Amino acid sequence: MNIFVINSGSSSIKYQLFHWPAEQPVCSGLVERVGSAQATITHKVFDAQSPATPPVETQLTLPLPDHEAGLLEVVRLLTAAPSGVIQDPADIALVGHRVVHGGETFAAATLITPAVKAEIRRLFSLAPLHNPANYLGIEVAERVFPLAQQVAVFDTAFHQTLPEYAFRYALPTPLYTEQRIRKYGFHGTSHQYVAAQAAAYLGQPEARLITIHLGNGCSMAAVRGGQSLDTSMGFSPLAGLVMGTRSGDLDPSVLLHLLGPLGYSVEQVNTLLNKESGMLGLTGANDMRDISAALAAGDARAALAYDLYAYRIRQYIGAYAAVLNGLDAIVFTAGVGENDALVRTRVCQHMEFFGLALDESKNQQRLPGLRELNTPEARVKILVIPTNEELEIARQCAALLPA
Ligand code: ADP
Repeated sequence: MNIFVINSGSSSIKYQLFHWPAEQPVCSGLVERVGSAQATITHKVFDAQSPATPPVETQLTLPLPDHEAGLLEVVRLLTAAPSGVIQDPADIALVGHRVVHGGETFAAATLITPAVKAEIRRLFSLAPLHNPANYLGIEVAERVFPLAQQVAVFDTAFHQTLPEYAFRYALPTPLYTEQRIRKYGFHGTSHQYVAAQAAAYLGQPEARLITIHLGNGCSMAAVRGGQSLDTSMGFSPLAGLVMGTRSGDLDPSVLLHLLGPLGYSVEQVNTLLNKESGMLGLTGANDMRDISAALAAGDARAALAYDLYAYRIRQYIGAYAAVLNGLDAIVFTAGVGENDALVRTRVCQHMEFFGLALDESKNQQRLPGLRELNTPEARVKILVIPTNEELEIARQCAALLPA
């Protein structure tokens, strides 16, 4: 069986095809600048026999007026020589869609029905940047793959296990009951995937874990027995850690000060906090590779930004060790977490109290797959686990099928 995973953005479509139940990635790709005359598609076909072989890549630049044109072009790449991997769109049995916001309605992956689509539409107001684009991907895929079952996998779903005292804000109750203002949490698919990998590696289904997803967006979760007990993002992905371009936690009075005395508009504050803050605001760059190069060159702003970034993560480790009443492992994942040894060093420094002890020589090694970076005698494991949100989405889709 073939499972096709789609992550539809406002002007992009990310996709991956898996053979199931082998969990074998067949091809993946990215359509960018949808809606322009100079759209691009990068399509990669993997070698089924030897996964270590680099994929065969096709690059296209072409006009793509809309998402439907984009997905039809992807179907052409999937079916036609030389990149073809299936005969016909009907060979795809399941399409899994990443949907950012599932509100309080969706605590797990869900087969898409007209009622589910209506609910995703109702959630547009909670995730105006993401859900409409995800929804568009669903509608287009229903037309392009009419015989496939469509499944929605929500970024918020994994965090629906938070207890009420963790997800509520101390605001008047009607703002929760009527306006749905609460902590939802995001990156759930990634936290769920690495937490499951970590528990399996430790041989402890009940493991107390802190999962640390550090990509462009950054978030942490406190996970026990495979359940999320708390997470650092909130009502939106803006809360919590310092991110590439987002501020993370902030005294709400700063917003009032910006909107009042400083005369910012709501739109300007939105742009400031989401697109111009975080590491970009502190250093002028948002990619950690550039910031670590600046640090190596003696840039003081980069040094402060690294300290601030790591300090915030350390604060959350302390908080979540309390939430979990102890700690078996912390897990680093995503672009920065998997690759940036200096961030891991800074995060794990002076944390002996929590039982964390990093083996710096293991930390510096660049190896693929799951790695253990703690010293042999350390009480708490320090793991690097590459995230794989596409595979997790495909697994959750497959699990919905009757056995
Ligand atoms: P997303 O959150 O968009 O899925 P990723 O998980 O791919 O992002 O992470 C992207 C970020 O990872 C980049 O912006 C960059 O800062 C960081 N990154 C990627 N590779 C490295 C590396 N070798 N060293 C340090 N940081 C890296």
